[in-house]
Amino acid sequence: MIDKDLPALDTHAHIDPDVTPSQIAALGNAVVFAVTRSLHEANQVKNRRDSSLIWGLGVHPGVSTARAAWDPQQFKSLLSSFALVGEIGLDRRGGALAEQRSIFKEVLAIVRDEPVLVSIHSSGASTEVVQSLHDAGMRGAILHWFNGDHTDVQRAIETNAYFSVNAAMSREQIQQFPRERVLCETDFPARKVRARKPADMAAIEQLLSEVWKTSPEEVRAATWWNLRTLSEQSGAIERLPESIADTLLYL
Ligand SMILES: [Zn+2]
Repeated sequence: MIDKDLPALDTHAHIDPDVTPSQIAALGNAVVFAVTRSLHEANQVKNRRDSSLIWGLGVHPGVSTARAAWDPQQFKSLLSSFALVGEIGLDRRGGALAEQRSIFKEVLAIVRDEPVLVSIHSSGASTEVVQSLHDAGMRGAILHWFNGDHTDVQRAIETNAYFSVNAAMSREQIQQFPRERVLCETDFPARKVRARKPADMAAIEQLLSEVWKTSPEEVRAATWWNLRTLSEQSGAIERLPESIADTLLYL
């Protein structure tokens, strides 16, 4: 039996730290991973309690001001206020790759044993990001918009990684991911994905339903189950907003 009322589940979107309750309400019945790009942004949201948003603690690899303000002590002190870390990672075109690498390595060493979900950016750097997960002993990362080849995908799976996929990705790419490792995202406001707002999952759920030869409702249920598994394995379920933890536990 599929619960037709399961909230839309968007596991990677960019939401303004100043978002108002009425703007959040306009998302409808939804749960959104709201990643941040810098410790400054994360600091702005750390005390927010929004029942449908899971705020992330991030330092975006492609944002030079975020890298310049990187401070491992500040990151560590913010970490206990978050159930999600993101976005972090590597970006081939983001400049200052040596700096990106050293920050990513430090972040992975800090979050590896923490009860958090971790959303990772790997644009143009799929192979290296997966190698970094292996090197750091990082388990259960969520690779967002992952465009690695077959070998990269297999090596990522060895680290128990998940893949958050969106409607701008090719069917061939999405087919490579095991169904029990897939989550859905909009990466809002990325224009290529064609999501009108965060949690607008219609296009990606339709695409996955065709790939998996099932219904969009089954797709949504499957991604919720996958999030439950990951949240339990990582321990992040203890830090999630209570209403979201309840949704997971009563699936
Ligand atoms: Zn992003």
